[in-house]
Amino acid sequence: MRELLHDTAERAARYLERLDDRPVFPSSSAVAGLAALDEPLPEKPCEPAATLRLLDEVAGPATVASAGGRYFGFVTGGTQPAALAASWLAAAWDQNAAFTVMSPAAARLEEIALGWLAELLGLPTGCAGALVSGATLANVTALAAARHALLLRQGWDVERDGLFGAPPLSVVVGDEVHVSVLKALGLLGLGRERVLRVPVDAQGRLRADALPPLSDSTIVCLQAGNVNTGAFDPAREVIAAARAAGAWVHVDGAFGLWAAASPAYAQLADGLGDADSWATDTHKYLNVPYDSGAVFCRHPEQLRGAMMVGAAYLQTADQREAAHYGPEFSRRARGVEIWAALRTLGRTGVAELVERTCRHARRFAAALRDAGHSVHNDVVLNQVLVSFGDADTTRKVVAALQAEGTCWAGATTWQGRAAMRISVSSWATSDEDVERSIAAMLRVAREL
Ligand SMILES: *Cc1c(COP(=O)(O)O)cnc(C)c1O
Repeated sequence: MRELLHDTAERAARYLERLDDRPVFPSSSAVAGLAALDEPLPEKPCEPAATLRLLDEVAGPATVASAGGRYFGFVTGGTQPAALAASWLAAAWDQNAAFTVMSPAAARLEEIALGWLAELLGLPTGCAGALVSGATLANVTALAAARHALLLRQGWDVERDGLFGAPPLSVVVGDEVHVSVLKALGLLGLGRERVLRVPVDAQGRLRADALPPLSDSTIVCLQAGNVNTGAFDPAREVIAAARAAGAWVHVDGAFGLWAAASPAYAQLADGLGDADSWATDTHKYLNVPYDSGAVFCRHPEQLRGAMMVGAAYLQTADQREAAHYGPEFSRRARGVEIWAALRTLGRTGVAELVERTCRHARRFAAALRDAGHSVHNDVVLNQVLVSFGDADTTRKVVAALQAEGTCWAGATTWQGRAAMRISVSSWATSDEDVERSIAAMLRVAREL
């Protein structure tokens, strides 16, 4: 075992050291090389080292270099060193984080991590939380708590009796709602298309003046950090209206909620702490390994009401049990690397991480604008939308940039305009990475 782990650590270190010198998206020959994995299910066992060698030598080159500093696709964090190392140790421990009796260490680390997260993100003391696979599952979990609470208020136990015959709930979302919220609503029987969509402004912010009537059977979904522009819905106004009506407010803050962790950007998150539930990712801004996110709920009994299960063999003591607050039973101990990341960065380290990515985003926007390209969004956080002329040219520039290999950014359409989407979310992105990437973007645009 020792030899295998040492060899693997060597391979991993070598992989990370060489990231800087390889194309960010794998070459077509590296992708074609994956054919070497197409073998029949082996009849007999082999040495683990041989399997690891194949993995490293064949799959490694066909990975996307999102762990490096020049990947700006989607909203993708890297993995900070303490989180990576802690994740390895946690894998060696192989703890099941469902119940405390399965791992006192995992349970304690998770509880501490959840407390620190809530504090950093400006959430109320006393809120309950759970670690999940990402913001999608966090949205599912939070909206299940909302569904539980609003129906219970009308005397309906949705976990027991289901939705057939239940009193109706209405769901209000901004027109720029993230698709994962719609997916969550679909899973929960609330319907992807049954929502009331509120018009948005030029940055994608829900217009508070266009809210429909709200009631105590309404769930309002706010967004902190639009996946294209980085914009925030106007929390103060919407939450005040929702409170007055007795509605439930859920915040999808996959990456935007992290603005609250920086004194310089906390203004963006103003008012969000007054909501009822929150979804966020830790594999994005906190830069811990996939898959990792967190859900929080102001009303612990409602989250518990939606997630709690009991069975004779699951008798538990008084302590918090992870499986009673989240959708999963058996799962890995995600709290370990979140704890390690937060303990290592500290409050100022997290703030600096957020501020650094935002500074890089502003630098991208300024350099591209100076070169005559159009930036479509107010760069309030870490997202930049840029066009290089008409739609066809823009799409060609994005494709050529992706093929050129210095960096990787994706294509999108923003309010009818084709654009390239730059998201700076990695701890690993340096000033030099930004300058190299800008130079590549300008060169590719010029050559087209
Ligand atoms: C990324 C993202 C999600 C989905 O998060 P996953 O971690 O991929 O499940 C949801 N909402 C927003 C705003 C996001 O940026």
